[in-house]
Amino acid sequence: CGIVGIISRKPVADRLVDALKRLEYRGYDSAGVATLENGRLTRRRAEGKLSNLATLVGEQPLDGTIGIGHTRWATHGVPSVANAHPHATKRLALVHNGIIENYRELKAELEADGAVFESQTDTEIVGHLVSRELDRGLPPKEAVQAVLARLEGAFSLAFLFDGEEELLIGARRGSPLAVGEGEGEMFLGSDGIALSPFTDTVRYLEEGDLAVLEHGRITIFDEHGTEVTRPVKRAGGKA
Ligand code: GLU
Repeated sequence: CGIVGIISRKPVADRLVDALKRLEYRGYDSAGVATLENGRLTRRRAEGKLSNLATLVGEQPLDGTIGIGHTRWATHGVPSVANAHPHATKRLALVHNGIIENYRELKAELEADGAVFESQTDTEIVGHLVSRELDRGLPPKEAVQAVLARLEGAFSLAFLFDGEEELLIGARRGSPLAVGEGEGEMFLGSDGIALSPFTDTVRYLEEGDLAVLEHGRITIFDEHGTEVTRPVKRAGGKA
């Protein structure tokens, strides 16, 4: 029930797990992180306590400098490693809080198109839909925008793309999502508390916003695709 993401030039896996610990209060039944190792998507996921994920990352370290993390509170599919986020396709990994209400019809459409699913979650359909748009030649932001237009429900999402060392995309509709700017590092998270050790410069996305995080900057677009600015709040969520 929490999302984090970091773009850096230093390894991010341990800090992703630390940030997830600060979101523990939201409740969870499993957790996971994904980074790019030599440009390729790599995941670690564990059922149960965050200490299980921390142990796994300790045993099988990740040295990627960009990544996303998630604590899951299952709504669709039992708590298990297969249903834990990040979910992934060959092209991307994603984390999701909330519910995609129309996932059944979207899943049926994707299955008719040949997609094979690894989990029972509503989340996995989003990864397949965005992958399909990337396969059709859309750039990442446009692919995410095209898919957001088809989703019903309340959610926040974050995407990491295979081969893209300088790009994270976050989006929110109904669930909170904040972005933070550090010194040469960019962050996203479900709330400012998750980001408070990293930066004081936190902006909360508004309903329908999409954020593109790159090494040197964060660009926010509203639901119409117009570039917008959002006010800086003190980390911790209080104005
Ligand atoms: N609906 C998604 C799932 O069941 C996300 C749940 C959450 O918000 O953690 O996997």
